[in-house]
Amino acid sequence: MSQSRQLRGAPARRALPKVKRLVVKVGSGLISAPGQGLLPDRIGALADELAALAKDGREVVVVSSGAIASGMARLGLTQRPRSIPEKQAAAAVGQSALMWHYEQAFARHGIRVAQVLVTQEDISARPRYLNARNTLQVLLRFRVVPVVNENDTVAVEEIKVGDNDNLAALVAALIDADLLVILTDVDGLYTGDPRVDPEARRLETVDAVTEEIERLVWDADGQVSVGGMSTKLEAARKVTSSGIPMVIASGRVPGTLRRVLRGEPLGTYFVPRGDRLAGRKRWIAFAVPPQGRLTVDAGARSALVERGKSLLPSGVVEVEGEFHAGEVVSLSAADGKEFARGLTNYDAAELRKIQGAKTKDIEERLGYKSFDEVIHRDNLVLL
Ligand code: GLU
Repeated sequence: MSQSRQLRGAPARRALPKVKRLVVKVGSGLISAPGQGLLPDRIGALADELAALAKDGREVVVVSSGAIASGMARLGLTQRPRSIPEKQAAAAVGQSALMWHYEQAFARHGIRVAQVLVTQEDISARPRYLNARNTLQVLLRFRVVPVVNENDTVAVEEIKVGDNDNLAALVAALIDADLLVILTDVDGLYTGDPRVDPEARRLETVDAVTEEIERLVWDADGQVSVGGMSTKLEAARKVTSSGIPMVIASGRVPGTLRRVLRGEPLGTYFVPRGDRLAGRKRWIAFAVPPQGRLTVDAGARSALVERGKSLLPSGVVEVEGEFHAGEVVSLSAADGKEFARGLTNYDAAELRKIQGAKTKDIEERLGYKSFDEVIHRDNLVLL
């Protein structure tokens, strides 16, 4: 796809004025400064804008970073801690300060906030996912502004979402938001690093997060920021394939949010793909890290992609990883590129025995047959 097609004008944004429920991600770099910790004026200015949206009848969920940055300043640490317990301690100190500032800032508008801390597990485990969703929905009904962050104090690296761009994407999918806005210190995705490259142009519209788009990423992470452009593109891929649009815009220019919601061509707009995925399929697609990988042959791939069929054992050529029945696995074809995810009916050991087999031979190979399909169509999501 040529870049000119990705640089379309405002029509792509027609739906923005109708957005009712939105998730706004606020990066550490916006609300804190190295050595100083949180910047109350910045939090105040953001809260003013968010409060105006809430007063217009919009439902706003904030995903805010800044716990570690704030904790570092309060503990007198000049370098971002390296050890996990130190990061967790900094986050614990900083999170309460972060919430205190949001409380104060929203209270000026008569709006209450709620602290919501989640980990990857809360999103991967379906009952916890549903609980989190119910709670957020009730908070919105009470006209409260939930302020979400990762529960850094308990989430060690292996089980973390890891960055708040991806967390915000998961939250947007979780509550079925109409829009995700990522506020950051640049005003969108550029064709180069605007700080050093005078030729760099801002992309106004991205139709799809292609490899060409991914090559534009010029990550230069600051000391306090975790997520650079690459995590923002991961977030864009997640939400747009759930059918939710995303905008990356400047959190430094006053009035940006209001203007974005009017449909003005600020920042970079990522066009949602197709229809909204139903809640369960969205969970299969993005909420759970896949536990294994199946390589399928070309015939199976086209049956799944073009003819809407289920995956049968005969199409499976390779099984990687150890997983149980009922877990999410990733599907790729011979080129190694993932094209779908689904809930497997068989565990890894069973699949190794029946891969390549005809459905009628499953019983002979396993001694039983629980299902004809490896992944039923209803439990399969094309990416
Ligand atoms: N959860 C981390 C914090 O609040 C930030 C993660 C991120 O910025 O992506 O400090």
